[in-house]
Amino acid sequence: MLTVGVDVGGTSVRAAVVDQHGEILQTHRVRTPGTGAELNAAIAETVRVLADRYPVSGVGLAVAGFVSEDLRVVRFAPHLAWRHVAVADELAARLGLPVVLEHDANAAAVAEQRFGTAIGARVAALVAIGTGIGGALVIGGEVFRGAHGVAPELGHLRLVPDGRECPCGKRGCWERYCSGTALAATAVQLRGEGASSLPAQPTGVDVARAAEAGDQVALRAVEELARWLGEGLALVSDVYDPEVVVLSGGVSDSAHLFLDRAREHYAAAVTGAGHRPLAQVRVAHFGDPAVMIGAAAIAREHALSGPAVL
Ligand SMILES: [Zn+2]
Repeated sequence: MLTVGVDVGGTSVRAAVVDQHGEILQTHRVRTPGTGAELNAAIAETVRVLADRYPVSGVGLAVAGFVSEDLRVVRFAPHLAWRHVAVADELAARLGLPVVLEHDANAAAVAEQRFGTAIGARVAALVAIGTGIGGALVIGGEVFRGAHGVAPELGHLRLVPDGRECPCGKRGCWERYCSGTALAATAVQLRGEGASSLPAQPTGVDVARAAEAGDQVALRAVEELARWLGEGLALVSDVYDPEVVVLSGGVSDSAHLFLDRAREHYAAAVTGAGHRPLAQVRVAHFGDPAVMIGAAAIAREHALSGPAVL
């Protein structure tokens, strides 16, 4: 059975035909339009391009935003035009195919748990480290979404009381200390404590590159990120005791710079340190396509479970 997974991002809508093994057969991409009506039309057109060539049985739509518990309605997506829109039903009517929605981090976690580095893990957590942190949990093969569909907001766990301000309105959130943005902010803070080749306003990528080249300020900023990654993973483990934690997102491309140190901090900070099994902390198998692959897998599983669920 073939299904289409769609990654509805703030800049582009990317779709892929995916088979039951998580293999992508073909992709198609368009720019993300600015209004909700245009967005629905663009997604429908993107899916049609693929559905005209392959016999697809359903569509999974992954969105960076809050999705209703029944996976039919986008409640709020900060970078998209939808506000409380029954996206799944509108698109299903347009396409004549079953459509199911999912949060993009959840879709990526499903891809890793079904086909990637967390294959078969009973409890798998995904920590997507980019400009912020996106989180997802797959427990017993099912996405854990809490009572109201918004769990888990891992990026906004408070690690540092009265710490750095976060756009969410709180202070000291995990993603303020462990993200590309955080890496840049820490490097700026540490400037003056040694010679550095970094520009005045570095990006996280600048800091990672400078650390590769041996820049002392950048290396200290990376060490800070490793510490906070480890501290955060300890909290996640204290609550969920995952078998595998998958690190994804742009910052995970530089994992060789900080992963060993992060594991040490994690092992030291977790409750019962030294007397319990630890989660295996691994870099994601899939890159960006994880979202499309996971969305397609969710669409397939919903189609197989029958129309009552849809
Ligand atoms: Zn926050």
